[in-house]
Amino acid sequence: MTEKRPRHSMLYYYLLVIGIMLVINLFISPWLLEREIINVDYNTFVEMVEDKKIEAVELDDQSNAILFKADDKIYETAMVNDPDLSQRLLDNDIKFNGTIIRETNPWVSLLLSWVIPIVIFVALGQYMSRKIQKGAKNAMTFGSGPLAGLGKSNAKVYVKSSKGIRFKDVAGEDEAKENLSEIVSYLHDPSIYKDIGAKIPKGILLVGPPGTGKTMLAKAVAGEANVPFFSISGSEFVEMFVGMGASKVRDLFRQAKEKAPCIVFIDEIDAIGQKRDSRLGGNDEREQTLNQLLTEMDGFEDNAGVVILAATNRPDSLDPALLRPRRFDRRVPVELPDLEGRKEILMVHAQNIKHDKDIDFLKIARMASGASGAELANIVNEAALRAIRQGRKSVCQSDFEESIEVVIAGYQKKNAILTDHEKLVVSYHEVGHALVAAMQNHSAPITKITIVPRTSGALGYTMQVDEGNHYLYTKEELENKIATLCAGRCAEELVFNSISTGASNDISEATKLARAMITQYGMSEDFGMVALETINNQYLGGDASLTCSYETQTKIDEAVIALLKKESEKAMKILKENKDKLDKIAKYLYEKETITGEEFMNILNNQI
Ligand code: ADP
Repeated sequence: MTEKRPRHSMLYYYLLVIGIMLVINLFISPWLLEREIINVDYNTFVEMVEDKKIEAVELDDQSNAILFKADDKIYETAMVNDPDLSQRLLDNDIKFNGTIIRETNPWVSLLLSWVIPIVIFVALGQYMSRKIQKGAKNAMTFGSGPLAGLGKSNAKVYVKSSKGIRFKDVAGEDEAKENLSEIVSYLHDPSIYKDIGAKIPKGILLVGPPGTGKTMLAKAVAGEANVPFFSISGSEFVEMFVGMGASKVRDLFRQAKEKAPCIVFIDEIDAIGQKRDSRLGGNDEREQTLNQLLTEMDGFEDNAGVVILAATNRPDSLDPALLRPRRFDRRVPVELPDLEGRKEILMVHAQNIKHDKDIDFLKIARMASGASGAELANIVNEAALRAIRQGRKSVCQSDFEESIEVVIAGYQKKNAILTDHEKLVVSYHEVGHALVAAMQNHSAPITKITIVPRTSGALGYTMQVDEGNHYLYTKEELENKIATLCAGRCAEELVFNSISTGASNDISEATKLARAMITQYGMSEDFGMVALETINNQYLGGDASLTCSYETQTKIDEAVIALLKKESEKAMKILKENKDKLDKIAKYLYEKETITGEEFMNILNNQI
């Protein structure tokens, strides 16, 4: 399905014209203009002069030659020192002007300099315009044939096969599956719905962060219902020429209606479905495409057997017209998986690799808190790759655990050479985090501390893993988290009396958390329950923008600074009170480089 892009054709057109002009001017014109010249000796020339055979003569000083014309032919002879030459020519009435020989047929030069270039331009222009017209015609009349040409939807038809994706392949996401199973049952037997007069939704919007299985779910609906599946990405509609996207939409719906019952899946619908506004430089093509999509959705009658699924991770940027009833009126959230969901996703993907029987998937799922389905699939693959690197035939528990760290923090850096002092500083820094976390209530237990540098730039890290799912955080828990984040820097300061660059990531995390507590969670006494920030792109990292006056912003900054100061003082106090434990564990970590949560707790409880 290759489509000849018009912008390429235009480029080819210009290059072709330039090429042809160069060939004409450099080769063809000189060749046509040049006439055959016969070389003769000077005696013959003199004889011909005297026989009055010569019509005209030209002296070419540059090439030191005499050119002359006789019997409509051109001759050339070498110029010799002949003082009588002029007299001889005059005596024989021979014309003596300098342009006879180079004179060309005026018709030929007219042809070369005007007629041929114009003909070429017109011919190529005609060819191009015919091609564009043909593309537009295809788009309007939905010409048959392969899915090529401008204005064709080029949607990929997902081929049904015995290996087609089913609901069971999409682990977790039970609510989404439940929601979509209604569509499956409708596609199986629309008559039940028609009989009772119920209308199935025309459009369903799958919203959620990237990699949570939206595309998979859409394919699974098609797989379960055993119907054709058209898949196209929103960005594929947008073309260089205004109107092409709209004709692609028309073509897509025409094909879908022919194949009904079927599913049309539009990925990244925000590429065309963004709010229309009167911003300067608005995108005409996008708006026309969106308008066409709206019209098409209204156009096909209810229960036509076409269900449109669309995926986006920016639902708040969609045009309200797209979300009104009988268009994309049903929204199915596809969220990040919870603990159980993560375990199931890991197990689904682990089916495809050879692994030991005694893998504790729950433990791995717990460690991979916050990971999306795509990341979990990646973790399983990384584990398999690690097993191969280590020359094993099957994947073991430690492969999975290490691969989580690879996905989170990058590969172990083999050649990073830290000085002994740096290693000690990192060791105190990490143990500082762990100790403060352990000494406060409501902190997630420590599972691992390491000071092996990673390719992501981390010189070490402390892993804390929650036992179960954690949806709500209290103010105290968040404060403790900030104190834990501050503790690394505090430990460095306490022990070495100097501070390093190693805490930059902690500082930015802690600041973000403190700011969110004040501006979003209403956890500050000064401001109370006022939303001072709004979150944009909730599913794409959630960048916040302030919605308050300049004076309040200054106060927020002051409150953030005060909160961080308070928590860092708290961390410092805990470390001072437990300085002997800090020393002991940091030295142990310095020797061992990686310690487990258990070892950490044992030293803490004076058991080692
Ligand atoms: P999205 O469309 O939400 O960005 P995809 O559906 O393209 O995500 O998922 C990308 C990959 O992640 C899939 O091919 C699959 O391997 C894996 N994946 C995501 N979610 C799940 C899930 N719930 N169960 C199994 N695999 C999943």
